[in-house]
Amino acid sequence: MLLSKRFPPIKRDSMRKSAVMISGGAAVLFALIVGFGFRSQCGAPRRSSFSLSSIKSHKQVVDVLIIGSGPAGLSAALYTARSRMHTLIIAGDKPGGQLTETTYVENWPGSEKQLGRSIMSSLENQARRFGAEILQDSVVGADFSKWPYTVQTEDGHTINALSVIITTGAHSVTLGIPGEKEYWGRGVAVCAICDAPFYKKKDAIVIGGGDSAIEKALQLAAFARHVTILVRKTSMRAAPVMQERLDKISGKIDVLYNYDVQRIIGDGDQVTGVEVRNNKTGEVKTLETDGVFLAIGHKPNTDLFKGQLPMTPQGHIHVQGRSQATLVPGVFAAGEVEDDVYRQAGVAAGDGIKAGLDAVNFLNEIGLNQQFADELDNRGVYFDAFESEPDALTLLSSMSEFAKHVEGMSKGIAVVDFYAEYCPSCMMMLPIFSSVSKRYSDDVHFFKVDADQAKDIVRYLNVPKVPALLLYKDGKLVAKEMKTMSRQELSQWINSYLAS
Ligand code: NDP
Repeated sequence: MLLSKRFPPIKRDSMRKSAVMISGGAAVLFALIVGFGFRSQCGAPRRSSFSLSSIKSHKQVVDVLIIGSGPAGLSAALYTARSRMHTLIIAGDKPGGQLTETTYVENWPGSEKQLGRSIMSSLENQARRFGAEILQDSVVGADFSKWPYTVQTEDGHTINALSVIITTGAHSVTLGIPGEKEYWGRGVAVCAICDAPFYKKKDAIVIGGGDSAIEKALQLAAFARHVTILVRKTSMRAAPVMQERLDKISGKIDVLYNYDVQRIIGDGDQVTGVEVRNNKTGEVKTLETDGVFLAIGHKPNTDLFKGQLPMTPQGHIHVQGRSQATLVPGVFAAGEVEDDVYRQAGVAAGDGIKAGLDAVNFLNEIGLNQQFADELDNRGVYFDAFESEPDALTLLSSMSEFAKHVEGMSKGIAVVDFYAEYCPSCMMMLPIFSSVSKRYSDDVHFFKVDADQAKDIVRYLNVPKVPALLLYKDGKLVAKEMKTMSRQELSQWINSYLAS
């Protein structure tokens, strides 16, 4: 596919020399010098390895491979694609990242109040408009020891990347207790500053004993009627200075020690309480609440890159100075995968932009220009997986369609995804469902139902909430899941019925 054909004729403006470019260049140079010791240990390529002419004999090449599709990844793509670099984003297990799990966001610069999903969808459209392509797939392996760097995906692609931007984010540590997944986004949350304004005249519980727990309790207390912090030990781990802040607003925040949370309780729609156990006395009781905020730590999603990139003891990817360059030349990182301080979507977007500029600068430095890119394109070197991706989902809009296509199927498996436009977790689930449907299109029929539109189907099946996944075998309902699933979980779920 020709770059020149695919992209509108935009001037390679980001390829022009600018102050930012020069600082990005200096950073890359710094990384090259400082990284020498690391490279000799981990076998990262040396400067002399970046010979573009060797790329002509490769296939499945991209100029910039972005791993992750949150604010950092999509913002990076804006800059690389707009600089006319062939940019491929691998969306990952959570397309759109953590913002798609929240409802309204009030601290995204330039937007007073907007759904997290809508922010991500605007960013995605903007990146696509400049030519960035998004693959609904997940990275399962990466090799940065030789250039071009290679990345393997769950769907079996091997991609050769001239530069890589890692924006895989972080995940909040969760408790894994009953009710937690079920009420996620409906009273169970991690971002207190996002949700605090919705807690006027309501009560909240924060779980954890670190600085984050206190910070979240203080954020909530600015709005909520009452906040309880549940700590599992006899004392908090939080810094004394943070604990002193709690004392200052005593009466509004209580701390209960030695409590383990066993279960999150709800009315089917929203959280109503938690079941706790005192680990000293064994007493079990229920505490009523409107919301549960988890503050039990974060883990960056860096397992894939261990041993290949230097990381902090907490597992964040180490970046150089003010740049987003890792110690491997041409590999950059942005967002929560490298930031353990700010952890805000706006900061991730800004760092993503820096990573995009750094990647463009790196590619310019190794000699990639439009003429060379056109030559690679003419030789069919660039990655192109898109012609093989027709949508395998059928929308069912009426009871008669449902009866005919699903219940009327005398042999085979059908999976139906009930979603609603207003439901962030549903909209996160849909692309996952769509990509899994492509993988199983020979064996399974996939349908989607807009629960807000096709109310007759919802009433007939008594679907209590969305997202809901219903699995039919030979026209009979055999399984139901009322939660979001990752690509892997959904595949395993379907496999278990294909095998039986
Ligand atoms: P921490 O790892 O510091 O604290 C996690 C807390 O969660 C601990 O109290 C831990 O308990 C508790 N916990 C872990 N697992 C469970 C569980 N299964 N059930 C109940 N409780 C559990 O994470 P934080 O996010 O609080 O902080 C991360 C870093 O960020 C720290 O370095 C912190 O200083 C920093 N930070 C700084 C802030 C500031 O300066 N304003 C604000 C927020 C964070 P236990 O103690 O028993 O292990």
